[in-house]
Amino acid sequence: MKLLRFGAPGAEKPGLMGPDGRIRDLSAHVTDIAGEWLTPDGLARIAAIDPASLPVVDGPVRYGPCVAGTGKFICVGLNYADHAAETGAKIPEEPILFMKATSAITGPNDPVIIPRGSEKTDWEVELGVVIGKVARYVTEDAAMDHVAGYCVINDVSERAFQTERGGQWTKGKSADSFGPIGPWLVTRDEVADPQNLKMWLTVDGVSRQDGSSKTMIFGVRTLVSYISQFMSLHPGDIISTGTPPGVGMGIKPTPVYLRPGQEIRLGIEGLGEQTQTTVAAE
Ligand code: ZN
Repeated sequence: MKLLRFGAPGAEKPGLMGPDGRIRDLSAHVTDIAGEWLTPDGLARIAAIDPASLPVVDGPVRYGPCVAGTGKFICVGLNYADHAAETGAKIPEEPILFMKATSAITGPNDPVIIPRGSEKTDWEVELGVVIGKVARYVTEDAAMDHVAGYCVINDVSERAFQTERGGQWTKGKSADSFGPIGPWLVTRDEVADPQNLKMWLTVDGVSRQDGSSKTMIFGVRTLVSYISQFMSLHPGDIISTGTPPGVGMGIKPTPVYLRPGQEIRLGIEGLGEQTQTTVAAE
């Protein structure tokens, strides 16, 4: 299933993308794409509904974030061998984790707001993993049972805030609008192999990232198990699994960063596409 949320910011309703390519309104059956609805039982209850029986949502629709009630937005750094190389970093021996503030979450096509004082706002297409079942000390063999599905994420990053202002990467990852997620939560059963998905990103039509999740160092199974050794994971929590090469800071000889008025497009095979326009913070 392709689950989604549609409507004005803060007033989104749950929906799904039907097999006929039309958005259907789930709000008579489902409170939100969140919490218990992401568990195996909740997803089974949604799957039992005939999409054709649901009202069609017509007209231009704003997609909201595809998941609500996210308690934790956990990101994995330098998780692609070729991306680690372009940043001049060593291949990590264990997954590098950092947190993105959940207030950064926005809809997939909402504007990306360049923060006040930013000169180094950058892009990162990433495979997002949405947790569907509490995970605490899970083994790699059992890890996938805890995954509800996948989504596209742009892990928007301010490199100066991230690396030149002291402390943790969190500073450069958490500005409002730095976490577009969606358009859909694609349930796990529809993604045959999360470690073999094409992923791409363009800025103003120029190809910047053109990679595949197959060059991920620590795969989804390993990450869910690994993270669950340090903290419990809950339905609606999101893991952003790292970015392939082609970020602005890696461009030689001169890094390229985002300015207001640009268009970012990104997508992952089978998971849909996002389009964002950059705007300056007020
Ligand atoms: Zn990232």
